[in-house]
Amino acid sequence: MNFSSLSLSSEMLTTLDSLGYKNATAIQEATLPLILDGKDVIAEAKTGSGKTAAFGIGLLEKLDVKRFRVQTLVLCPTRELADQVAKELRRIARFKHNIKILMLTGGESFGRQLGSLEHQAHIIVGTPGRVLKHLNKESLELSNLKMLVLDEADRMLDMGFIEEVEAVMAFMPKERQTLLFSATYDAEILKISKRIQNDPVLVKTTEVEVANKITEEFYATTSKEDTFVKILSGFKPENVIVFTNTKAEARELAQNLQKRKIDALAIHGDLEQYERNDVLVQFANKSCPILVATDVAARGLDIKELSMVVNYDIPHGSETYTHRIGRTGRAGAEGIAITLYDSYEAEKADEYRDDKRLFLEDSELKGSTNFQLKPEFVTLVIEGGKKDKLRAGDLLGALTGDAGLKGSSIGKIDIYDRQAYVAIETRFIDEAEKALKRGKIKGRNFSVWIL
Ligand code: ADP
Ligand code: MG
Repeated sequence: MNFSSLSLSSEMLTTLDSLGYKNATAIQEATLPLILDGKDVIAEAKTGSGKTAAFGIGLLEKLDVKRFRVQTLVLCPTRELADQVAKELRRIARFKHNIKILMLTGGESFGRQLGSLEHQAHIIVGTPGRVLKHLNKESLELSNLKMLVLDEADRMLDMGFIEEVEAVMAFMPKERQTLLFSATYDAEILKISKRIQNDPVLVKTTEVEVANKITEEFYATTSKEDTFVKILSGFKPENVIVFTNTKAEARELAQNLQKRKIDALAIHGDLEQYERNDVLVQFANKSCPILVATDVAARGLDIKELSMVVNYDIPHGSETYTHRIGRTGRAGAEGIAITLYDSYEAEKADEYRDDKRLFLEDSELKGSTNFQLKPEFVTLVIEGGKKDKLRAGDLLGALTGDAGLKGSSIGKIDIYDRQAYVAIETRFIDEAEKALKRGKIKGRNFSVWIL
C-alpha cells in the first residue's frame, strides 16, 4: 500500500519518498491510522518490518513543533537501539525544521545530558534507567507528555526493566497515548499493557509478512571450534555473528580464533561503553568479519546484510533461536543460520528438528581447519569528532590529499561527538596512519591510532 492513501501531510510524503520508502510495510499500514487517530496500540511484527517508522511517522505527524516541550518519550531497552531509533526519527523528521530530538541513555555523560535538557526538546529517546535518573533529579519534566512509546517491549521485559518503566510512568500525565511495539506477544506483554495502556487495539502482522529467506543447518560435532573454522572456510561468509550462551565463552572463543589468525572480536556485558562501540564500529565497517556475542550484548544490534549467524551452543529456548537467526536474511537477501551441538546437547537439538531444517554431521562439511581470515579493512581512530566540526569530507580530503590514498582504499567513515573512525584498506593502513599523524586535518593536529 502506498503511503499517499494514509492521511499524512504532504511534507511527510515527500520525505518518505526521498528516503526511498515507496510503500508502507504491513505494520505501518495497520498501525498508522490508529496512531494518528490517538488510539493506544499494541503492535507485534517481526524484526526488520519497519516498526520504528510506524511509530516514528505517527509521532512526528502528531507533534506540535511550536510547543517546545517534551511531548513524546520513546523508551528502548539498550543504548544501541535508542541510537538507531533516534537516527531513524531524525531522518523522518527532515521534513519539518526545528524538531529537537534528544537521546538520554546510560553510558553517556550525565552532565552533558543535563546541559542539553536545559535547552529543551520535543522528543526524548532513551533507556529507562537513565530517563528515570533525570526524572528523579528533576532535570527532565514530563507534564506535557502526549505520547509514550515502548519499543522492543518484549526485550524490555526480558531484561527486567519493568520496574524502571513503571517508575518513569509515574511522572507522566495519565491522559496520554501509549504505544507498545514488540517482536513477540505473550501473557507478559498483555500484563504490562493492562497496566499502562487504555483500551488498546492489538495489531499483529506476523503472519502476513514474507518470512526471511534463511537456510537453517544443524551440525553434530565433537570439536565446535574446528567445525566452526571449517564452516568459515567452506561458506566464506562476508560477516558472521556467533552466539555463545555465556560471556566467558564469548571471550574465550574470540581469543582462540585470534590465535588461529582468524580475526574475531567479542562483545559481552562486561565491556565498557567505549569498548563496545569500538567493537561494533569495526564489525560494521568490515575491519572485523566475526563478532562473538552473547544474547544480551547483541540486543538491538541492527547490522544490515549479515551473511551468517552461528549458534555456537543450542540457545536457551526457541524464542532466542528465532531472535538470533532473524538477524540474517534481512530485506530479501538470503541468509544462513548454522547451529552447532555436541553430544551433551543432542537432546535439546532434537527439539529443533522439522522439515525446513537440515541436520548434518561435521564430516559432511567441505572446509578445512587450516583456515585464516584477515579483514578487508583496518580501523583508524581520530580523536576528533562532531564537536570539533570534523566531517567525513575533511577526513577523506586529508587521506586522499596528503596521504595520497585512493578513494577506493577508504571504507566507511563514522563520526561521533569526540571521535571519528575510518576504515582503511589493510595494506594502506600504515601509510594512512603516518600521513594523518604528520599532517593536519582542518588545520589542526589530532591524535590518531589504529584499533
Ligand atoms: P523493526 O524495528 O521492525 O525491526 P526497523 O524499523 O529497524 O524494523 O526497519 C528495518 C529497515 O526497514 C530499516 O532500515 C528502515 O529504514 C527500513 N524501512 C522502514 N520502513 C520502510 C518502508 N516503508 N519502505 C522501505 N524501507 C523501510
Ligand atoms: Mg525496532
